[in-house]
This record gives sequence, C-alpha cells and structure tokens, in this order.
Amino acid sequence: MTIVFTGGTAFVGNGEIIDKATVIIEGKQIKKVTKADTDLPQDATIIDLEGKMLLPGFIDCHLHILIDGSPDPMASAVNVNSHLLTLLAAVHAKNTLMAGVTTIRDMGGIGSAEYALRDAIHRGIIQGPRMLVSGQQICMTGGQGWEFGREADGADEVRKAAREQIKAGCDIVKLMATGGIMTPGVDPGAAQLTEEELRAGVEEAHRANRKCASHAQGTEGILNSLRAGIDSIEHGFYLTEECVALMVKNRVPLIPTLAFGDMIEKAADLGVPAYILEKSRLVTKSTLESLAMAKEADILIGMGADCGTPLLPHGTNLLELVCLVENGFTTEEALIIGTLNGAKILGLDHQLGSIEEGKIADLIVVEGNPLNDIGLLTNPENISLVLTSGSVIKNLME
Ligand SMILES: [Zn+2]
Repeated sequence: MTIVFTGGTAFVGNGEIIDKATVIIEGKQIKKVTKADTDLPQDATIIDLEGKMLLPGFIDCHLHILIDGSPDPMASAVNVNSHLLTLLAAVHAKNTLMAGVTTIRDMGGIGSAEYALRDAIHRGIIQGPRMLVSGQQICMTGGQGWEFGREADGADEVRKAAREQIKAGCDIVKLMATGGIMTPGVDPGAAQLTEEELRAGVEEAHRANRKCASHAQGTEGILNSLRAGIDSIEHGFYLTEECVALMVKNRVPLIPTLAFGDMIEKAADLGVPAYILEKSRLVTKSTLESLAMAKEADILIGMGADCGTPLLPHGTNLLELVCLVENGFTTEEALIIGTLNGAKILGLDHQLGSIEEGKIADLIVVEGNPLNDIGLLTNPENISLVLTSGSVIKNLME
C-alpha cells in the first residue's frame, strides 16, 4: 500500500522544515521526502495536508503505563487484580497512541503486565505505541519505588536483579539512585543505591546490550550514577556544575519530567496525597535551575511526561512540550526534543524520530501549526491522523 502526503508543511524532526512537502510511504517505510512536485505513484492514497503539519510520531522516554494518572495512582494500582491492570493498561496505551505518541518507554512495570502489553501491541493484537520496557525498577530495600520494584542490597544482589529483568525480556534496566516523590518517607535528595551497586547494574545491562537508566533526583545519586557509567539521568532535579560537566563528558542525556511538577502546582484539593504535594513543591525551583543548566551546556534532552503519576493520565504526554516552552525552549526545540532526541536516547534514531527516507513510517498529522502554538498538541482532537509502521491507526480527516 502506498500513501502520499502532499501540499502541507513537514516538520522533519532534525530541525528542517519543508513547506509544500511531498512524503511517500510504501509499506512500512518512508520511501521519498521531497520539496518539489514529483510523479505520484499509481493507485496511491493521497492525503492533502493543506493547513496541517506532518510530524514524526512523538516519543515519550519516561512513563508508567500500568498506573492510571489518578490523584493517588499507587493506591489504585495496589488494589487492582493483575488481569484487570493489564486490560486498563491496554486502554492507557491506546489513549497514548491517539494523542500522537507512537513510541514509549515504560520505566517501572508491575508484575509482568508490561511485557504482555508490549508484545500484544508488537503482534498487532491491540493498538498502542511501540513499547520499550524496563521491567521492575531495581531499588534498595525500602527505597524509592519499592512498592512495585525489585529490592536489592549489595552489588551482587543488584547484579542478580538486573539479570532477572534481562531474563524476563526487558529492553532497558532501570536503577533507583535516589529517593523520590511517589514513595512516602523517602527524600528525593538522598542517595539510595550506592555507586558500587549502580555499577553492577550498569555492567549487567551493558553486557546484555541494554541501556541502563537511573532515577536520579539528588546530586549525590546523580554523581554516583554518572561515575557508574549510566546511559541516562531521569529527573535530575538537583544538577550541579560537576554533574553537568560529567554529563557532557560522558554524553549522558537528561529526561527532566517537568509536567509532573506543573500539574502538582494545580493540585490543591484534588486528592493528591499530602506527602506528594509537599515533596514536589520542594524540588520545583532546583528542577527548573537544573533544566536551565542542562540547556546551557547543550545536554541532549528527552521528553518524558511521567504519565501515570498524579493528574497525568495517559494521553496527556505532550503537556511536557508545553512545559519545555514555558521554561526557555523554542517551539522548534521542543518538537525536536519530542521526536528525534527521543529516538537518539532510545538508540532507535536509525529507524525512528524523523521524516527521512528509509525510516519506519511512524507519523502524525496535526491540525494547524504547533510552531505557532505548542499547546494545540495537547488536545487529541488536533491530532488528525496517526500512522504507525505505515498503517493508518487514526484518521479524523475523512
Ligand atoms: Zn517515573
């Protein structure tokens, strides 16, 4: 099957913008991208882009597909039978895809439901974004995320825990280097897994050709992670000059997860537990200062809305782009963060993240011009069309 997009603007994902673009999709792949009029293939489905923009599907590098984004999502997940949890997650995945997000990285599963979801989407049994999953997050006993995590103490046990996730089929290993906001009684600024423990986890991940990400909010845990050879810093709320210098030297990206704090600001009386509100407000200032430092140092930044956490139901992912624009990024930079940067961080930029010949056709059509108003992306009704691997999944244009 051949699809031709023509007559509108294409945001390529690498910084290039093509007016009056013609983009030809053949099968699962992007066959041709051109500015000029070109001979259109016979029997192609022609999609007129006038007044619209064609973009690569968005890539969310950090979310939790099994929790629901209600005010107290951990409590609601604890009480749900695992089969129901899997079915709910299928709805979350579909909502994510309909919002224009075609690839996601789940950063902390529950049981093994995330694997079933990933594989069911991959086999075409249900509709959802392509998924990379971490399996259980690996934390110290009683540490951040212990409720659903694999508790491990000492380098050998972290090594074993990482091997367990790899055995189960994870795509990435996630280690918990500091406290955080969602688990009561732990301090976001405090280091948790030690440098030695983190190094054991990173080594195992790398030996199995997986990337290794660190939940790292406080400075000491960020530095421990970087010295241990981590591949990405998730959150990074308390960056210092030393952290930034190491991130630049080791080319480690940051996924700043801004939408969470932004929603919490609006959360009074909505039922979010008090400990979450208090801790979130505590880190707001340093989060934004850290983001500014990372931007200044040209650190690769990825979009991760942390959907599933309070007041961020699945499908609200692109709020993260609005937060980036509210905090110093241009709309163009935000769109690159949401597309090609994500593909780079996931190690998939040879296949995804931009509208280039030979890449997989994961594309969306947006009503209007998000370069003029990034906020229009947050309404799924403005995502007129979603294409994954060359197949039209959503089409409001007919
Ligand atoms: Zn998270």
